[in-house]
Amino acid sequence: MDKKQTFSLWYVLAALVGMILLQEFVVPRHTQTLTYSEFKQALAAGKLDDVVIADGIATGKLRGDGLEQILPKDKLEALARAGGEHGFATVLVNDPGLVAQLDAAKVRYGSVRESKWLGALVSWVAPALVFFGIWWFLMKRMGSGMGGMGHMLEIGKSKAKVYMQTETGVTFKDVAGIDEAREELMEVVEFLKNPDRYKRLGGKIPKGVLIVGAPGTGKTLLAKAVAGEAGVPFLSLSGSEFVEMFVGVGAARVRDLFEQAAAKAPCIVFIDEIDALGKARGVGLTGGHEEHEQTLNQLLAEMDGFDTNRGVIILAATNRPEVLDPALLRPGRFDRHIAVDRPDLNGRRQILEVHVKNVKLAPTVDLAVLAARTPGFAGADLANLVNEATLRAAKRGKDAVEMQDFEEALDRIVAGLEKKNRVMNPTERKFVAYHEAGHALVAEHRKNADRVTKVSIIPRGIAALGYTQQSPTEDRYLMRRSELLDRLDVLLGGRVAEQLVFDDVSTGAENDLQRATDLARHMVTHYGMSEALGLATYDARPRPLYLNGPTLPEPRTFSERTAEAIDGEVRRLLDEARERVAQTLRANRATLEALAALLLEKEVVDRTTLDGLMASNAAPAQLRVAAMALPPADREP
Ligand code: ADP
Ligand code: ZN
Repeated sequence: MDKKQTFSLWYVLAALVGMILLQEFVVPRHTQTLTYSEFKQALAAGKLDDVVIADGIATGKLRGDGLEQILPKDKLEALARAGGEHGFATVLVNDPGLVAQLDAAKVRYGSVRESKWLGALVSWVAPALVFFGIWWFLMKRMGSGMGGMGHMLEIGKSKAKVYMQTETGVTFKDVAGIDEAREELMEVVEFLKNPDRYKRLGGKIPKGVLIVGAPGTGKTLLAKAVAGEAGVPFLSLSGSEFVEMFVGVGAARVRDLFEQAAAKAPCIVFIDEIDALGKARGVGLTGGHEEHEQTLNQLLAEMDGFDTNRGVIILAATNRPEVLDPALLRPGRFDRHIAVDRPDLNGRRQILEVHVKNVKLAPTVDLAVLAARTPGFAGADLANLVNEATLRAAKRGKDAVEMQDFEEALDRIVAGLEKKNRVMNPTERKFVAYHEAGHALVAEHRKNADRVTKVSIIPRGIAALGYTQQSPTEDRYLMRRSELLDRLDVLLGGRVAEQLVFDDVSTGAENDLQRATDLARHMVTHYGMSEALGLATYDARPRPLYLNGPTLPEPRTFSERTAEAIDGEVRRLLDEARERVAQTLRANRATLEALAALLLEKEVVDRTTLDGLMASNAAPAQLRVAAMALPPADREP
């Protein structure tokens, strides 16, 4: 709860107390309700004064003494208890003679309550005030949780929410295992340290750097380290905090953020979860379009508007780069992308080392063993592991953290992560290893395929469980048919390897199959690469998913028979590719096994290692030995 909310809570309390006081003063201290007959008798006895008749109710002053004949005992007692002057109230009955009696009793009377406005205040305005206060208070609370309406009263003032640190105290020493990302950000640090030298040399400074990676891989940590290394302030804000109910609030907040950044320059602005704010426009079926677009447009405008020479660099983090609006990624905006992967074996050991720096370890603890047992762990998971183990050791009153503590902590964390589908079980890992080995091996055996630079079974992002990285040898403008066919083969390599080794297949090939199908269809319908369908092109554009434009579905320009022929040709291309791939993999089964085993052990296989492996393929005797030493696959076909 922030300061403002506490204040509003006080307002509500004050309103309540005020209302109670008001009631105390306006309404006589003790009011006795009289029946009409009691009222008449008291009147006749001359015990009433200042009678006010309004709305069918008579009120006034009641003299407390000498009422024994008139009032019952309980009312007398109440009067006695209250002491002093009393008021009375009574509900009138239809009594035309009342005025005459009042006259006869020489009582002052009137028909309009003198203090009507006060009464109205008490009975109507005050409760309204209280309700408003409560509403306001609730809204404020909601506002802190989900960016609700509470900020209506402070539009655009994101000052309370921008989290600023003049010194993060984090340096690159605290970031381990993601060296590539670190090196790329070094440049930003250099610039922030010596902007003038950089400018003189005409260096091109990125305005925005997008850090892409799974949760907990150290994106925030990296951004803080950049600020720490450069010794500049670190302003951070989460993308979800820009998302507001009211049109214009998010945009005002963006403006505000950039104003603050300009004032603090040189500095780092870090926008976490930028996908919340930078989702592609026109996507999403729920409301809030206008607000969302305004916010995003404002961000784009601000990024275009300021120049890097002022020393403000925007870092943003996301784990869903695919949903970002393409406009955000254009040159001059977030045109620099840095991927942070989950760490590999070596990286995990380094991260563990960072986190045990201030922990007393028993000599039994072997970080290399722990690193080997934590495939798929992100930096945050490893930090958590060290923390849990330390807590366990402390709870048992140990002087140092022992391996046993780590093992117990590990069991618990792994169970938790498996439930969340964040780490793979051993069978899954094996599938992924053979799958990726299949891709890589096919690529190695295709003349026209891009070179494999890296094979990995470290889960990347949400969908990909492993990946085989290929880099095109040159920029391409044209692709030959033979190249496309080879590409098709590489795409199918994963699935075919699964089939070959396990005699079973997994869902892991979905993306591969989709891309292969798209490619085959394009070859048939766009590139004229199918004999059966000739040189004609067939535009079978799918109907747009969201009908928010004048893009009505186009009529198909070809017949049902042609459609069938296209499907048949696509199918034929894929089937033939599968046959070719199966042949290649069968002929190189030993290499496939060797590569998969290596992947299971090391998680990442780079080009050099792959070269060595391929070379040993040329020496069959050696290979057979290597293959025999490997763990067997689940089921040999
Ligand atoms: P993200 O922003 O990617 O979700 P964070 O940067 O918030 O992840 O990481 C959370 C914590 O995990 C960090 O504060 C740090 O303690 C630990 N951590 C993550 N990655 C690393 C790393 N590469 N080296 C050291 N610690 C890391
Ligand atoms: Zn694949």
